[in-house]
Amino acid sequence: MSMSFAAWLKKLGIDCASYLNQIPVSTRHTHRSHQALSLAAPAMSACFYWVPFMLHRLGIEVLGLDVLSDTRCAHYRSPRDIIAIKFRCCDRFYACYECHESMADHRAEPWPEAEFAERAILCGACGCLLTISEYLGCNSRCPECEAAFNPGCANHYELYFQKPLS
Ligand SMILES: [Zn+2]
Ligand SMILES: [Zn+2]
Ligand SMILES: [Zn+2]
Repeated sequence: MSMSFAAWLKKLGIDCASYLNQIPVSTRHTHRSHQALSLAAPAMSACFYWVPFMLHRLGIEVLGLDVLSDTRCAHYRSPRDIIAIKFRCCDRFYACYECHESMADHRAEPWPEAEFAERAILCGACGCLLTISEYLGCNSRCPECEAAFNPGCANHYELYFQKPLS
């Protein structure tokens, strides 16, 4: 139980020096995912490394302006602005639609309802990927770690998702 986080990363073949240097320090504690991993990685008490680490493993890069390790960006920076969304048009994760608008060279394409099973929502608090359906039914709370999401995102619903026919 004494392996350091750095040693642990090294064991996994990850070059942590350059990697960790880029991680903004956050004091956020993540909950279940972190605890679940503590058996395998005792030194993960440095839990603010958890999300960047997960993204690294999943090969996901969250694009955007001034993106922090929990996916908050220059536009949406409250403690609850912690989801990133994969855009259908380019298959890439952005912190928000404004980030996409300012960095992508094309218009954003909302997800059609037929594809709501796509794991397109990333929780910046625990690093889990939610399907669009899970996200839309989660009552602004991550089903994995219970972090609160910004309910105001619903105001921009149609920028990300095609409205289900009702
Ligand atoms: Zn795009
Ligand atoms: Zn943004
Ligand atoms: Zn979560």
